[in-house]
Amino acid sequence: MLQVNDNYLKLPGSYLFSTIGKKVSAYTQANPDKKIIRLGIGDVTLPLAPAVVKALHEAVEEQADAATFKGYAPDLGYAFLRDVIAEKDFKARGCEIAADEIFISDGAKSDSGNIQEIFSADAKIAVCDPVYPVYVDSNVMAGRCGNYDGETEQWSNIVYMPCTAENGFAPDLPKETPDLIYLCFPNNPTGAAITKDRLQDWVDYANKNGAVIIYDAAYEAYVSEENVPHSIYECAGARTCAIEIRSFSKKAGFTGLRLGYTVVPKDLVCGGTALHGLWARRHGTKFNGAPYIVQRAGAAVYTPEGEAQTREQVAYYMKNAAYIRAGLQEAGYTVYGGTNAPYIWLKAPNGMTSWQFFDYLLEKGNVVGTPGSGFGPSGETYFRLTAFGSYENTVEALRRIKSL
Ligand SMILES: *Cc1c(COP(=O)(O)O)cnc(C)c1O
Repeated sequence: MLQVNDNYLKLPGSYLFSTIGKKVSAYTQANPDKKIIRLGIGDVTLPLAPAVVKALHEAVEEQADAATFKGYAPDLGYAFLRDVIAEKDFKARGCEIAADEIFISDGAKSDSGNIQEIFSADAKIAVCDPVYPVYVDSNVMAGRCGNYDGETEQWSNIVYMPCTAENGFAPDLPKETPDLIYLCFPNNPTGAAITKDRLQDWVDYANKNGAVIIYDAAYEAYVSEENVPHSIYECAGARTCAIEIRSFSKKAGFTGLRLGYTVVPKDLVCGGTALHGLWARRHGTKFNGAPYIVQRAGAAVYTPEGEAQTREQVAYYMKNAAYIRAGLQEAGYTVYGGTNAPYIWLKAPNGMTSWQFFDYLLEKGNVVGTPGSGFGPSGETYFRLTAFGSYENTVEALRRIKSL
């Protein structure tokens, strides 16, 4: 009899955001007069930049005219977008990445979930703890992770790399050598960045051990410090061990439009096979391209106007981040992140667990954040606040937190 892919049945429920939703709605029903401020959101809130909107309008007009109409896009994406990415995101930063090593997609979530398909079923993966859940769940669905232990909240066949205050929330090299290493910097949820020297250690480690690094750089646009790399290809030797995933979501507010890309260098060879060809085959078979109008909008991000306007959006969020960081420090909290990422990772005070602090902040301050334990066991006793709210709400939330 036909059976389902029972790997899906091994996945534990994703309770984090539904539990938050239930707790908040129970509280608002009981206290309808209270104004809740949400600093838990991982979504941008500012509207699209004018240069992006203009490009969208123009591309729609092109689609309305037989002379300029575009149907299916080229497999890798339009050259007008890949060329400008190669120039501005890589060449300008001293990275050697060619336009035909860039695969345009509908976002970093799909790419980071799909990339595991081109590796063998018995590949051993390593992830940070806490972690963006997509890397783990996509490998569970593929049958790579063994069994889930509800006690430890870990899978039997994953190498977990704790990210703690002690290691600056950038993992130490694992004792057991994995095949596939997922790294995300600047990090969601911790807001931590990795220095170029420490990332170089990872590149050297991967090259030495024949491992591949999947580098999620969705928050690259938030890097503000000099010694923090924007791309893993700033490290020597990354072309032979790293795949990098980028997104227009947090950089330019494309969470609703959908656009991202994956870089697979032609020098990246695994067991004698170049991964570029495999990913090209996968992309061509299962994906029919990001919409033309969205690729035009993406190219507009790299025009002088688009660059200035999207930089201003990132600066708006980072002003919130700095405000949250400074306010929490003033109130005596231990805080991390918020310098190269729109996330602030704070230690729950007075020995509270993540969820105890969630309830306390909701009930006493009417502020909603995200319990760190929801991202993995090493997130316990931590709490995430995001800088994606309005400046006014951010200021009001901090006023409330300080008065607790
Ligand atoms: C938001 C986010 C992404 C972006 O995903 P898109 O699908 O491009 O919107 C990727 N990785 C991480 C860690 C994120 O937080």
